[in-house]
Amino acid sequence: MQSKAAARLSDVERSAGLSGAWAGGGAQRASLTAGPNAALNGVVSGVQTMTQTPPASLPSELEAASADLQSQLADVNQQQIHAVEIKTSKKKQSFWRRVVDFIPNIFNAVFQTAKALVGTIVSTLWNFLKDGIGGLISNLAKGNIGGACAAVGKAVMNGIWNVVTGALTSVMVLADPIYQLAGGSQPPVKVQWHRDKDGNLHTITRGGIPGEMTENEGAGALTKSQLDIWVNETDYRKRDPIEKKALLEHELTHTRQLQDSYVVDNLLRYDREEKKKGYCGVKDEQEAYKVEDQYLRDHGHEGGVTCAPLA
Ligand SMILES: [Zn+2]
Repeated sequence: MQSKAAARLSDVERSAGLSGAWAGGGAQRASLTAGPNAALNGVVSGVQTMTQTPPASLPSELEAASADLQSQLADVNQQQIHAVEIKTSKKKQSFWRRVVDFIPNIFNAVFQTAKALVGTIVSTLWNFLKDGIGGLISNLAKGNIGGACAAVGKAVMNGIWNVVTGALTSVMVLADPIYQLAGGSQPPVKVQWHRDKDGNLHTITRGGIPGEMTENEGAGALTKSQLDIWVNETDYRKRDPIEKKALLEHELTHTRQLQDSYVVDNLLRYDREEKKKGYCGVKDEQEAYKVEDQYLRDHGHEGGVTCAPLA
């Protein structure tokens, strides 16, 4: 039911970049648990045999090496346990568990829907006042008639699109108990109100049906409008706090790109560029990845992130 335009608008974070990095971490874990682990076990076992039956006096270097290897083995074992925990956490809930959770999920959905509706109305009004009326006054004060008209036009178009995406999100949030009962892959839906450093308001919807739609696009998050961001919650939970914030910075870049457009022109241009140059060739994505990459590097993630084609 997502329009083509809305799907395109979907900027999308890629599960590709960070999620790719995450997948890389998984691969590293796998190699640790297979090759080196077996080899390490052999070495430790040999060292243990030697230390249990010392010939006369045991060289202190050997004792130190043994302790070091034991410590490394403990680390590897810990990683194995962690890998098993991750696997277990993906296990689907039983049918009866989902039935028991149905009533609490209804209460949650009603509360979250109210948050989505209030967030949509307040954010739309506020953003319109700030960008439309504020832009009109500041441009008129400078005698810039063209700028004044553009500010109002952009604010009106964004306002309309914000209401459309906000309504769509609210309906999906309300349907969350049915989605959970049917065994959806995302956790129960959660709506957050957000305000960025420039005073723009947003609603961030995590998990539930919006989360699943984001997941189906192979994305970590999608920006649907100037105020509406959807998050793939199962992917999000695997990120460290810096990666979570970097993902949000990526999405906020897209909200600003929309804010500074008449929406339709942005969607059409995105679509055109994606068809011509692919996802990573879209100018808006290049800008968003640059912001995300910079945030990661500024906060100690040396590898940063680069765009990767979506699955
Ligand atoms: Zn993006």
